[in-house]
Amino acid sequence: MAPNKKPYQNFLDNLRHAAKAISLAPSALEKLETPEAIHEFQVAFERDNGERVIVPGYRVQHNSARGPYKGGIRFHPEADLDEVKALAALMSLKCAVVNIPMGGGKGGVTVNPKELSHSELERMSRAYFRIGTEKGVFGVNRDVPAPDVYTTPEIMAWMMDEHEKILGYKSPGVITGKPLELGGSLGRSYATSQGGFYILQNYLQSIGKKPSDITVAIQGFGNAGSYFAEMAQEAGCKVRAVSDSQGGLMHHEGGFAVEKLHKYKQEGGSLRGNFCEGDTCDIKKMEEEKVTMLSNEELLQLDVDVLVLAALDGVVHRENAEKIQAKAILELANGPVTAEADAMLEKRNIDVLPDILANAGGVTVSYFEWVQNRSGDVWEEEYVNSKLKKIMDHAFDDLIQIKRKYPNASYRQAAFILGMERITNAMGLRGQI
Ligand code: NAD
Repeated sequence: MAPNKKPYQNFLDNLRHAAKAISLAPSALEKLETPEAIHEFQVAFERDNGERVIVPGYRVQHNSARGPYKGGIRFHPEADLDEVKALAALMSLKCAVVNIPMGGGKGGVTVNPKELSHSELERMSRAYFRIGTEKGVFGVNRDVPAPDVYTTPEIMAWMMDEHEKILGYKSPGVITGKPLELGGSLGRSYATSQGGFYILQNYLQSIGKKPSDITVAIQGFGNAGSYFAEMAQEAGCKVRAVSDSQGGLMHHEGGFAVEKLHKYKQEGGSLRGNFCEGDTCDIKKMEEEKVTMLSNEELLQLDVDVLVLAALDGVVHRENAEKIQAKAILELANGPVTAEADAMLEKRNIDVLPDILANAGGVTVSYFEWVQNRSGDVWEEEYVNSKLKKIMDHAFDDLIQIKRKYPNASYRQAAFILGMERITNAMGLRGQI
C-alpha cells in the first residue's frame, strides 16, 4: 500500500474532487460516500487435520441504483474492510462508466489461500458463500460476485454449487467468471486486457498516434498483464519492459517477443528466475537475449510512451510520482496510482487512463455472462468481443465529451464525473435523492 494512504480515503478524495467540479448536491455526494450495506461474516471451516478455524469475511454493497451489485471476491492475507469498501465503491462507478445495468459491490476474506490445501480452500469458499446466501446477501437479481485476487473459476463453481444447493434450483447467474462448462462466457479470461487495449487504441487515436509508434512497460505479468502484452505486441507496440513480483526485465533493442516471456516464466518460475539464481545472474545469457534486469521501481521510472500498471494498488504514490517519465499511464490494476500521485502527474501533463475505465472490460464480459445465464443463451467469442469493443469505444467517447464540458478535468475526474452523473440520475429517478 502507498505510504500513509487508506484505499477508502483515496476513493473519497477522488470522489469529492470530481463532485466539486460539477457542484454535486451534498445529499447525492453523501449517498455515494457511504456504502448501502456492509456485511461481515465469520467464515468457519475445517482444516484437513480436523481443526476448526474462523477467518474474517466481508461483502460490501456500495450502490444498487442502476442494477444488482456486481464485483469480485478476493482471498488475501491483507484484505480488510477498508480495502473492500473502496473496491466496492469503485465498482459502482466502473459499471456506470461503461453503462452496464449493474451496481457496485466487493467481497473479501482475510486469509492466505496459498497456505490452504485444495480441499480446505473448497470448504472455506463454500462456507463464505453459504453464509452470504443464507443471509440473503447474494442472489442473481441482488448481488452477483466474480473472481478477484487469488480466486479462480473453480472457486466460482464451488460457490455457485453451494448457492444452488441452498436454493434447491439452478441459478448460474448468481456468480460470474465460472468455468465455460458451467455457464462461463467465452472471452472472459482475457476481457480485462482486451477492454484496456481498446481504451489504449482510442486514446492513441485521440492524440494522433498508432500502436506501432509507441513503447510500453508493463508492471505485472499475470492474467491482466500477460494478455495485454500479447495484444500490444500483436498491434505493433514495442514491449520494452515487463515485471512480476520477483523483478523486471528490459529489452535493449526494440521490444520483447511475448512468447519468450512466457517461456522465461515457465522455465525460471519467474521472469528474472530464468537468468538469475539469488544474486548470481548468467550475464552471457542475458547478453544473448538482449536483456537487462531491473527492479519494479526502476520499471515504473522508465522513459516509455505508456506505462501499464497490472499488478498491485498504490504503486505510484507521492514519493515516486515525480520520477515517472512515461507519457501516459494505463491502469489495468485497481487503484495503482494514489490520489496524491494523480495530482502530481496531472501537473506534469502525464495522462492517467483510470482503472474504472481501463480495466472495465472484465466486469463488462462478466455482465455478458450474467445476461447469457439468465437467458440460457451461449454467445460466440467474436460476438462477445465485438460487443465489448462497442461498449469500450462508447465509454471512451462519453469520457471525451465530459472532458470537453469540463476542460480542466483529468481522465480520472472525467470518469468519476461520468459515473457519478449516471448513478445520481438513477438515484434521482428512484426518488432516493
Ligand atoms: P494475477 O495474480 O494474475 O497477476 C498479478 C501479477 O502481478 C503477477 O505477475 C505477480 O507476479 C505480479 N506482482 C505481484 N507483486 C508485484 C510487485 N510487487 N511488483 C510487480 N509485479 C508484482 O492478477 P491479475 O488478475 O492479472 O490482476 C492484476 C491486477 O488487475 C489486480 O489489481 C486486479 O485487481 C486487477 N484486475 C484484474 C482483473 C482480471 O479480470 N484479471 C479485472 C479487473 C482488475
